[in-house]
Amino acid sequence: MSNTKDAVVAVWFRSDLRLQDHPALYHAMQYAKENDCALLFFFHVHPALSKTFTKRHDYFFRSLAAVRKTAADLKCPVHVVSGELEEAFATIQSSVKSWQAVFYNKDDVGFGKQRDEKAEAWFSKQSIKSHTFEDSHLVGPYDIEKKSGGPYLVFSSYLKAWRDIDKPVPLSIEEEELESLAWRKTTLDTEGEKVLGDLLGKCEMPWKHTGEDAARKRMRAFMNKAITGYHEKRDFPAIAGTSRLSPYLKNGVLSIRTLHHEALRVLEKTSATKQVDTYIQELAWRDFYYMVHVHHPDSKDNEIDANYRGIPWTTNEEWLDRWKTGTTGFPIVDAAMRQLEKTGWMHNRLRMVVASFLTKDLLIDWRVGERFFEESLIDYDASSNIGGWQWAASTGTDAVPYFRVFNPTRQSERFDDEGDFIRAYVPELKNVSNAHIHAPETMSEEEQQEAGCILGKDYPKPMVDHKARRHIVLDTFKQVKEKN
Ligand code: FAD
Repeated sequence: MSNTKDAVVAVWFRSDLRLQDHPALYHAMQYAKENDCALLFFFHVHPALSKTFTKRHDYFFRSLAAVRKTAADLKCPVHVVSGELEEAFATIQSSVKSWQAVFYNKDDVGFGKQRDEKAEAWFSKQSIKSHTFEDSHLVGPYDIEKKSGGPYLVFSSYLKAWRDIDKPVPLSIEEEELESLAWRKTTLDTEGEKVLGDLLGKCEMPWKHTGEDAARKRMRAFMNKAITGYHEKRDFPAIAGTSRLSPYLKNGVLSIRTLHHEALRVLEKTSATKQVDTYIQELAWRDFYYMVHVHHPDSKDNEIDANYRGIPWTTNEEWLDRWKTGTTGFPIVDAAMRQLEKTGWMHNRLRMVVASFLTKDLLIDWRVGERFFEESLIDYDASSNIGGWQWAASTGTDAVPYFRVFNPTRQSERFDDEGDFIRAYVPELKNVSNAHIHAPETMSEEEQQEAGCILGKDYPKPMVDHKARRHIVLDTFKQVKEKN
């Protein structure tokens, strides 16, 4: 039985595409019960969403479709409204008798923050009570400060303070209750449905895994096994040693509180405490980069460390294209970039390797790489991506100075010693022996014939000399630092 009450309280879904452990939903349910209201769920398709369409949009809309399906099965339709924000809200307002309150999980940075400010102004004008919640992170961007005041810029010090803070626990939502509280109408804005239908029509990627059930299944599988080997295995891209939960976390299909809580449960029971603790520490990195981004809102465009502003980056379209297409002649870089193209995801170790290669070996601007990841990743998260790129480019929060230049061949030998990952993504190299897989240019002509891989024809020679490029980048950074 759906609810026919006149007074309505709305839950605004955004990048929190789930029904469990959802703060806005949880508190809206309490409010609806206490104030005798019906619950209306909505999603707003912002006009900007129709302008660009990348893999992450594809993944996002499929995740949205998944949560709408789950909600519809519980007879709680998630209505879709479109147009500019005010127009979309007005559509809701004109369809209900009395819109009392709105509940949503807020954003603290970027486009989301600007949108929230606009929304708040409208709600206030209409005397609609707004209740907002911190959802996406365990520790909020303003919860930790240095003793001397201001945000931390060094992760190790931040981590100490992060560990001391009580983390929020999961919120349990009774699905049976949802049906009885849900608002009676089944459609609200047919234009919104049409706009969303068109966007879903653009989805072409065959994602096997979307939706809350898939996220929980992957989380359980990880907690049951891989987490207890995480510290040792997380750097090897050929092994499923990491959780691969980032796309779910990004779109809020899985709650960070639930994930943290499950990790703590394993930690309590296991003897592999170091392994599990390393995993928990990665969740702190996520909070750290979010906090840095909130306190440096211009860091998508500017170097966080002012010492490294004004680096004379190289503009070389051919080099950039070779990096993007995975044809650099450095097998580990090429395999990583092809994994990104094929799956919309890349292993963390490889993100560091390819980012270092672009910014240090090729001396191409980190902003170019950051934007390319934005277009290519399904887990694209502005804060983590900017943090990761600025770390790799030595312009951000890395405690080690700019001398950190990854040697791609050495990284390959260390983290893909048998070449399994390379062979999975660079089929030209599948018959190259382990002795040459990390640097195929070391093969003699005879060995190339034998492997069916002629350098310069089947697979490119290395596009740069790593040693020589290392000297150039170190000199460049030194000069800029001295000048600044
Ligand atoms: P796991 O190893 O299982 O870790 C668990 C979770 O912890 C991850 O899902 C993620 O949410 C968080 N996490 C782990 N490592 C980091 C880290 N270094 N920084 C922040 N959070 C972390 N992560 C994104 O979610 N979106 C991005 O756009 C993104 N861009 C990156 C760009 C660069 C250049 C680099 C070096 C890293 C980037 N990362 C990004 C961080 C990291 O690579 C991914 O979070 C991780 O690879 C996701 O895989 P996983 O879920 O298996 O991670």
